Amino acid sequence: MKIKDIYKQNKKSLSFEIFPPKKDTELESIDETLEVLCELDPDFISVTFGAGGSSNSNRTIEIAKNIKKRYGVEPVVHLTSLHYDKSEIDEFAKVMEAEGIENILALRGDRTPKVAEKDDFHHASDLISYLSEKHDFCFLGACYPECHPESDGNVNDIKGLKKKVDSGASVLLSQLFFDNERFYDFCERCKIAGIDVPIIPGIMPVINAAQIRRMLSICNATFPERFKRIIKKYDDRKEALFDAGLSYALSQIIDLLTSDIPGIHLYTMNNPVVARRICEGIRNIV
Ligand code: FAD
Repeated sequence: MKIKDIYKQNKKSLSFEIFPPKKDTELESIDETLEVLCELDPDFISVTFGAGGSSNSNRTIEIAKNIKKRYGVEPVVHLTSLHYDKSEIDEFAKVMEAEGIENILALRGDRTPKVAEKDDFHHASDLISYLSEKHDFCFLGACYPECHPESDGNVNDIKGLKKKVDSGASVLLSQLFFDNERFYDFCERCKIAGIDVPIIPGIMPVINAAQIRRMLSICNATFPERFKRIIKKYDDRKEALFDAGLSYALSQIIDLLTSDIPGIHLYTMNNPVVARRICEGIRNIV
């Protein structure tokens, strides 16, 4: 099933993001995670892709195939393009087509000094334009409620996003954020720019101190006072932080669900307990 068709139905979607384990020895753990996630009956599960051919990028398609064949859930393969040329992308597309994978989250990928950039794809929109000439995939794109870190401001960021949608991205998945007002403002800007595809908010329950420190270093999300107080108060109490972080994410999700949004995309961090607790919290709401 193509993900864009989910949004033709009159319901709010629930989807999960997972990442391939880094080591071979952890491969079995992903099956344990998937067992639980798939029981929660998501509309789709997206699988991240290590930019620039990192060791786990090859596992992305393998795991997506498993999600579809073994669990009967629709997978979305994240595919980055900055570090690949056309022939390499053709190879990925060939494998995905052969495995019956229909949905790609088309990405540029992050710049890294470790891997050389190639010249065929400069933006996700180039990847979408290239692949859509030869294949019948449904393309999703990434979006940034608080601006892409390399962007010089909201106006150009939205202009770039419009190009991505015009090239064929039919659903947008958002970067994580902790302040819903930022997301609502972003949706308004998209509407004004004529971006009229479903925009799915990405929510990450932040449940441990290491994760919070990582968030602070890699993403430019605004941390509302209410969220900062939680971190300050429970930083050294693991269980308390888990409960508080989960409740914070739930309150964000409930607020979003009462608004006019098409669904929720949950960054699970491969933690099935978190996904289950979130789903229990909204069982009678979605
Ligand atoms: P682009 O679409 O190229 O956008 C980057 C910037 O360029 C934006 O400011 C945009 O407005 C602008 N822009 C876009 N198109 C054009 C255009 N045609 N002309 C001019 N400007 C333009 N990274 C990974 O390595 N692996 C993953 O699995 C992964 N999954 C992700 C999932 C989500 C939901 C999100 C939000 C991000 C993910 N990323 C992943 C991170 C992503 O690769 C980085 O944020 C990267 O820096 C940008 O990728 P992009 O596809 O958004 O790039």
